[in-house]
Amino acid sequence: LRLSTIRDEDGNILSIIGCSNNISDRKQYEQDLLESTQFLETVLDSFPLLVVWKDLNLNYIGCNQTFAKACNLFSVSAIRGKNDENVPWIPLEKNTNHDHQIIQSGKAELGIIQKHLQYDGSIVWLETNKVPLRGFDGRVIGVLETSQDITSRKQNEGIVKEFNRRWRSVLDNIQMIVVELDHNGNVEYINPFFEKISQFTPEEVIGQNWFSHFIPSDLSSSIETVFQAILKDNTHEYYVNPIVTKSGEKRIIAWRTCVLKDDTGEAIGVISIGEDITEQSRLERMKSEFVSIVSHELKTPLTTMQASLSLLNEKFIDPASEQGEEIIAIATEGVDRLVRLVDDILDLERLRSGKLTMTKTDCHTQNIIAGAIAQTQELAKRADTKIEVPDQSFSCYADPDRLIQVLTNLITNAIKFSPYQSTIELSISEESDDQPYLLFSIRDRGRGIPTQNLQNIFERFQQVDASDSREKGGTGLGLAICRDIIEQHSGKIWAESVLKEGSTFFFTIPIHSTEVTNSDN
Ligand code: ADP
Repeated sequence: LRLSTIRDEDGNILSIIGCSNNISDRKQYEQDLLESTQFLETVLDSFPLLVVWKDLNLNYIGCNQTFAKACNLFSVSAIRGKNDENVPWIPLEKNTNHDHQIIQSGKAELGIIQKHLQYDGSIVWLETNKVPLRGFDGRVIGVLETSQDITSRKQNEGIVKEFNRRWRSVLDNIQMIVVELDHNGNVEYINPFFEKISQFTPEEVIGQNWFSHFIPSDLSSSIETVFQAILKDNTHEYYVNPIVTKSGEKRIIAWRTCVLKDDTGEAIGVISIGEDITEQSRLERMKSEFVSIVSHELKTPLTTMQASLSLLNEKFIDPASEQGEEIIAIATEGVDRLVRLVDDILDLERLRSGKLTMTKTDCHTQNIIAGAIAQTQELAKRADTKIEVPDQSFSCYADPDRLIQVLTNLITNAIKFSPYQSTIELSISEESDDQPYLLFSIRDRGRGIPTQNLQNIFERFQQVDASDSREKGGTGLGLAICRDIIEQHSGKIWAESVLKEGSTFFFTIPIHSTEVTNSDN
């Protein structure tokens, strides 16, 4: 209500005029505003978020209860006029830069992650969103900050990070293959040991299909079927299969596989840990071959000797008779065979255990060849085989007795596996790459060796034909012994062959440059 007076010239009140205005709307509006402010305050206070707003000078204008509590203030009103510098709530990295930027650009900055030191000395991690506060006219009048305490998330992240670091270091250093496949069989992860074994780089493996790239083609579909069964029923936890390396070599791997599942329990892939048992399986195979060959090799001559001796012992045959002499010759041959086998086994074991040391000295190939020829001439004579030897002699630094043993074995084989009246060519040449060396070759015109056997004949008891030991009188150990002797001279030994045309065995003996001479000429 507004009252005004009307006066005369002397100032006396003549009348009073009243003018009233209905302000119910305004009152209602004020009431509404108060209520909505209280409502907003209640909402803000019930937030677990820290909310504070600042003016253009970055002084605090207001905050919610959570922020006030974090600053150790008893009421939200106590925040007025304070700023980042004078509350016991210290951002460990100054954040005013963000504030100035927001005021200048009018653009919000979201997801700022910062560490804060609380009044009680504890550290909290906050994720803060800062938005510009605007007046009615749209001008920026301050900054509104809402922060979420993410300390426990950070701690969990730390735990997960540490867990991953430990897990990673186990995977990186474990001497076992680790491969992770997705549900389509595509490679998701390989560990460094797989790289080492397979010679593939991660770039060549990740994303590739495991079965079409790393499993021998004849096995890929059956192994894939096993993989599907593992995904479906978690069966075949233990499995052995070969993988193919970059160089095409096959390695036998014994796998333990675990199915990976998502939150809903759906199989999403597998992780497999594999042990490279190639060497182990080779040894196992060799062991069983060894047992069968040794038992055969030992048993055959022993049985003949036993039979011959019992005939003589029980006086069925007179040792002085022609038949008796024959029986004694058979028994003697049996003993010779046994002695040869035992000698070869012992030689090989001594070479491998390092007990048989090479006594290297300056020697001449002429003498070595003469020694080997002397040992094989009887056999050559019986087979009417001619052995051609080089005229030139070279000097080298080697154990002459062991070189004679190598040559004798190679010449004996050449005679054994060549037809009657054949020719064997022996040659020696001086070669050089990093260092000068002698290259020996022994060529025959015999039955030849199949390509797939050219390497394994240098392994113990490996014979192209199982009957070779019986028919040709060998032990299957000769080439293994040759290889060990040559390797102990830092040389190499190998064979080349064409079936039915013949074979050539090569070996090298490095020589000291100062000792390279043709002194025998
Ligand atoms: P062995 O005592 O049986 O001769 P080796 O280790 O010397 O044992 O030879 C292994 C096998 O390699 C032989 O049994 C034979 O099958 C094959 N071999 C070796 N040398 C020759 C050759 N010159 N020609 C054909 N085959 C050969």
